[in-house]
Amino acid sequence: MSETIERSDHGAVGAAVDANLPVIGHWVGGRVAPGRGRRLDVYDPSTGRVQAQVSAATVGEVDEAVGVAREAFGHWREVPLGRRAQILFRFREVLERRKDELAEVVSRQHGKVLADALGEIARGEEVVEYACGIPALIGGASTPQVAGGVDVVSVRQPVGVLVGITPFNFPAMVPMWMFPIALACGNAFVLKPSEKDPGAALLLAEMWAEAGLPDGVFTVVQGDAEAVDALLTHPGVDGVSFVGSTPVARHVYETAAAAGKRVQALGGAKNHMVVLPDADLAAAADAAVSAGFGSAGQRCMAVSVVVAVGAAADPLVEGLVERAGAVRVGASLDPHAEMGPLVTGTHRDRVRGYVDRGVAEGAELLLDGRDVVVPGYEDGFFLGPCVFDRVRPDQVIYRDEIFGPVLGVVRVDTYDEALGLVRANPYGNGVAIFTRDGAAARRFALEVEVGMVGVNVPIPVPVASYSFGGWRQSLFGDTHVHGPHGIHFCTRTKVITTRWGDPAARGPDLGFPRTR
Ligand code: NAD
Repeated sequence: MSETIERSDHGAVGAAVDANLPVIGHWVGGRVAPGRGRRLDVYDPSTGRVQAQVSAATVGEVDEAVGVAREAFGHWREVPLGRRAQILFRFREVLERRKDELAEVVSRQHGKVLADALGEIARGEEVVEYACGIPALIGGASTPQVAGGVDVVSVRQPVGVLVGITPFNFPAMVPMWMFPIALACGNAFVLKPSEKDPGAALLLAEMWAEAGLPDGVFTVVQGDAEAVDALLTHPGVDGVSFVGSTPVARHVYETAAAAGKRVQALGGAKNHMVVLPDADLAAAADAAVSAGFGSAGQRCMAVSVVVAVGAAADPLVEGLVERAGAVRVGASLDPHAEMGPLVTGTHRDRVRGYVDRGVAEGAELLLDGRDVVVPGYEDGFFLGPCVFDRVRPDQVIYRDEIFGPVLGVVRVDTYDEALGLVRANPYGNGVAIFTRDGAAARRFALEVEVGMVGVNVPIPVPVASYSFGGWRQSLFGDTHVHGPHGIHFCTRTKVITTRWGDPAARGPDLGFPRTR
């Protein structure tokens, strides 16, 4: 795994301003702010052309936006829970009504096919639905008579201004992992989306306005590392949720924690799918291809390594190559396409470089997607599915997170070897086992050191009422996102100890109080 933070695909400076291109601005105080800073190009990955420019917030603009959020927090925290829930319900209705519009923006800027964009919106919407139950979710504990005439209650109060910094690969879902719960708990929320596909964030902001959220409670600050670093140390920010690559996650965790914020920082992944010889190998091959090549492999829960145990290997590899070779690659809005382009040309070239490296290192490239051409979209950032067999753990294609349509098969002889591989990997986001043996599956689920485990489920993303998060270098911090951990992260606990009645005055007692 590369430990360095790579330069943005835009370079450090930004692009020359092009007055003919639409500008994607910030959302501050309930309206769009065009921005005064640098401009960064936003591509249409299917055509390879620049389709818009996004404003990159300056340190001064970040300061103004946080100031507006802080002011709004003072009012929003006082809004009764029932009223907050009503606004969330309305947001859910608006989202449902405008989801096709949102999916098209996601598809055009990210490059994933429309069905996939609709899928990510549906998973985000689940979190909105979960947060609609906030009056029931936010309750604390209450214990009467802990001592004579003394009662104790614990309450959960909002943290303040929470920031979400999100990756390019789920421009709608990952922000929705964070903000429904943050807002439901009474916080103001500042979203810094990926500069590669920033349009979804603005549309979500419009939806909040339509749902009746007071101005300033939801803010969007566009930009890159400059905006992120200004947010991480801003005195008006109380907490930071981050999702992205591991080196940046570590930087965010260390910087924000040093500045006194609460932080959860979710990082990269290298998800293994272990296939035992007794598994339904056709179903396993279907699952590996769906999970490996959906969204062109640009999912944090994508399967990137298939660990074939014993006699599973030959038929499994044959099934994988056959299925992966039949995946229809096309433009993101082509209704017949199953897999779109990669997000930028730079990223496509990086992924293709890994394929070249794998060949040079001696892995067997059984399916080579490097020369794929989509008629009519010759300049798009396409790369077809690639399948490597006999990958070894010392090879770079095994060690690094590639984040593209490249599936590697590692052959091992035993269950213990398969488990050992997963254990030795520095990441611990998701893992799956395919088997018909319940005892083996149970043993694996309990023994494996990974945050999310699937048994005959290739992408075990927890539903919204559970929390999402990995272990080891896939997450810095101790809370996962959404579900009960989300409520915990977005609130501070206060314990109130109360005595009522008329205890007889007995004079001062300087001893430490004994509660019984
Ligand atoms: P990234 O780390 O490059 O960017 C994520 C965010 O950080 C963006 O908003 C970006 O503007 C900002 N950023 C980038 N470089 C920065 C720097 N040097 N300093 C400060 N901020 C910086 O990630 P990405 O390429 O957008 O997304 C893909 C990565 O995200 C993959 O590694 C993937 O595994 C990971 N991811 C993880 C999860 C998870 O749940 N663990 C979910 C989705 C994506």
